[in-house]
Amino acid sequence: MKLVEEKIKAEGKALDSQVLKVDSFMNHQVDPKFMKQIGDAFAKAFHGKRITKILTLESSGIAPAVMTGLVLGVPVLFGRKKTSLTLQNGLLSAEVYSFTKQESSTISVSAEYLQQTDVVLIIDDFLANGQAALGLLDICRQAGAEVAGIGAVIEKVFQDGGRKLREQGVMVESLAKITALEEGEVFFEEEVKA
Ligand code: 5GP
Repeated sequence: MKLVEEKIKAEGKALDSQVLKVDSFMNHQVDPKFMKQIGDAFAKAFHGKRITKILTLESSGIAPAVMTGLVLGVPVLFGRKKTSLTLQNGLLSAEVYSFTKQESSTISVSAEYLQQTDVVLIIDDFLANGQAALGLLDICRQAGAEVAGIGAVIEKVFQDGGRKLREQGVMVESLAKITALEEGEVFFEEEVKA
């Protein structure tokens, strides 16, 4: 999607060969108008899949997930990285290693909000090594819910998350595909789906 590429070119910063900083519109400050366009794009990409729920992970997945839920007219559930007094029983959990934080955490959702009858679209900000997406897939499987696919705003195709997920037969749609990062430079795959 040209829009995402242009946004990254204008505001993204490659910190090194592995990490892209997009704090100005997604990971710290959020650009709502841009996010609405992301929601429109995911809704179009997964049109006709009879999605009943969006599942994401706190915190950076929430903005694109909410906009997609708004367009599709379905609720948005986000996995929490810490339990709380209100989230203790009836949990579905998975272990996720965070690429950016370089630590493992247990992500949880309440079984109350994810049912066998659900058709789930998993949304996240980045797809890198696929740990977050695999954890969310695992949670959907525990619930017995069907997974319609995974939408990532930005996929770094030089890391192998996308390959692992597609090999499992999961439909993965990424709005921008990055083939390489160099300090101060971002390289995109030629043809990216609009
Ligand atoms: P994965 O689990 O696919 O390895 O990594 C996905 C998660 O790590 C995303 O939810 C995202 O928050 C974070 N992440 C991975 N790569 C990047 C990156 O290059 N930049 C930023 N800002 N976050 C990233």
